[in-house]
Parts: sequence; structure tokens; C-alpha cells
Amino acid sequence: MLIDLHTHSFVSDGTESPEVLVRSAAEQGVDVVALTDHDQTSGWQEAAETALEVGIGLVPGIEISCRTDNHISVHLLAYLHDPLNEALLAEINKARDARVTRAQRMVEMLSEDYPISWELVLEHSHRDATIGRPHIADALVAIGAVENRSEAFERILIPGSKYYVGHYAMDPVTAVELVKQANGVPVFAHPLAAARGRVVQDQVFHDMIDAGLAGLEVFHRDNPAHAQQRLLEMAQKERLIVTGSSDYHGAGKPNRLGENSTARDQLERILELGTGSHSVGIR
Ligand code: AMP
Ligand code: FE
Ligand code: FE
Ligand code: ZN
Repeated sequence: MLIDLHTHSFVSDGTESPEVLVRSAAEQGVDVVALTDHDQTSGWQEAAETALEVGIGLVPGIEISCRTDNHISVHLLAYLHDPLNEALLAEINKARDARVTRAQRMVEMLSEDYPISWELVLEHSHRDATIGRPHIADALVAIGAVENRSEAFERILIPGSKYYVGHYAMDPVTAVELVKQANGVPVFAHPLAAARGRVVQDQVFHDMIDAGLAGLEVFHRDNPAHAQQRLLEMAQKERLIVTGSSDYHGAGKPNRLGENSTARDQLERILELGTGSHSVGIR
């Protein structure tokens, strides 16, 4: 059974609609897919309807932006939480709003050196999408400043670049607590993805585990091999769920559906723990 628990549609920074994404998953032989858009769940309904139609399983999820007090970005996946839980929703919406102001500031600074505007960025993002650097990257591609998103990140949008601006996001420990309160299953996304920027110290892992972290996304292309080994050992020691996934973004990234996957018994643990919403079509 091929289980891919981390994908993005165009309601965040993927390039496909939730419907097309689920159809793509079915075509690629994925049996269960989780839709985990950044900081929003507006794709769930369409994804669920399509999953039923094409006969694959769907786990509703989200990837929550977090930031430690020393400004390290952490992504927390949550599965099967109650999407209307007020405390969690308030924090997620605050981060989503902060992303807009932050992107506008980045575009303002970029516009001193590139012919780029906020309007152009909006043209390259779906209406109501969670705005991120990938949308700025797409605008940079459109004006011919770079070939693709990857080049935009490497050369222009990476933390440390003079154009980089951070944004408000809640602490990962708070995020774990809120996901638990919303009856969801919190899983630390690509925990040791060093190429994306600084990664957290062991203390943060332990604080998140004490708060109720349920799992680690071990099998992900951005966790280097030695880091995957370390994460596996930690998961075993702390009895955490181990997941693997593609982090598919459609045409926005080279990541292919099902390139990494989650074992069936680990999915079962997630399905047992998550009671805030319902999975669809898992056989
Ligand atoms: P942001 O959410 O604005 O901080 O931007 C981070 C997002 O950019 C991540 O969710 C990835 O989808 C995307 N991203 C990060 N690095 C790259 C890269 N090298 N190439 C393409 N997309 C990337
Ligand atoms: Fe993304
Ligand atoms: Fe992520
Ligand atoms: Zn992701």
C-alpha cells in the first residue's frame, strides 16, 4: 500500500487544485494521500469528494507554520484535527495574515532591484491561497530573473538574503498543544531539513514530545540520510509514529508523489489518534 502523507495544492503553494492533486495521486498509484496545505484547510472538501470518486483514501491535514523564540522555522503537520477549533484556528489565521504583510515587504525590497510588483505576485497565486515565498518565486520566474522556483530560493529568497523577511508564527510547543486540543495528530515535518535553514536543537524536540508530539516525518527528501537515522532512533526511543512523504507541490518542486511513503501500521496509529475530523475511503 502506497501512503503519502504530505502534499500541497494551490490553496497554498502547490500548483494543482485539490481535485487535480488527488487525481494525480490515483494515477501515480498512491492508495492513501494526505492534503496538508500550509496554514489552511479550505481544500479538504474538494479533495475528499475526488478521493471518493477515484477510489483512493484521503487523510485531511494541514502544515502549520511555527517559529521558535530564536527564530528557527518549524513546520508541524497535523492530521484529522477539528478544523473549526477556535484556539488553533486563531493562531493559524494570525500566521496566514502575517505571511501577506511579510510577502509585501519582501516584494517592496525586491522591487528596488527587479521589475516585480505585488500585483504580479497575486497573479501567480490562487485566490485566497496562503501566500508564501513560492508565489514570489513564480513572479521572479515570470519576469525572467530566474529559471524556476528552486533557483529563486537558492539565489534570492533564502533566509540570510537581503530580501528575506520572517513572519509571525506560534511556537511549535504551543502548536502541538493546540493540535492535541483540536483532537488532531501532530507530526514534526522534515525535522532536520538543514538545506532550508537552521534546524532546531534537541531541547525543542523534547519540549514538543513532552507537549504531546505524536510523530516524526523521517522519510522526506530534505532530511539527509544520517539525519533520518538519528530521527528513527529518536522515534523508537520515544515511541513516536514514523512517517514518510513526498511534500508534493505539483510543478512547483521536483518532488514526485509517492517518492517517500508511510508504512500501513504507522497510518493506523494516526487514524486511531485523530478524532477531530474524518478520513475518507481508506480500505
Ligand atoms: P514560506 O512558506 O514563505 O516560508 O516558503 C517556504 C516554502 O517554500 C516551503 O513550504 C516550500 O514549499 C518552498 N520551498 C522552500 N525551498 C524551496 C526550493 N529550494 N525550491 C522550491 N520551493 C522551495
Ligand atoms: Fe510549501
Ligand atoms: Fe514544510
Ligand atoms: Zn510541505
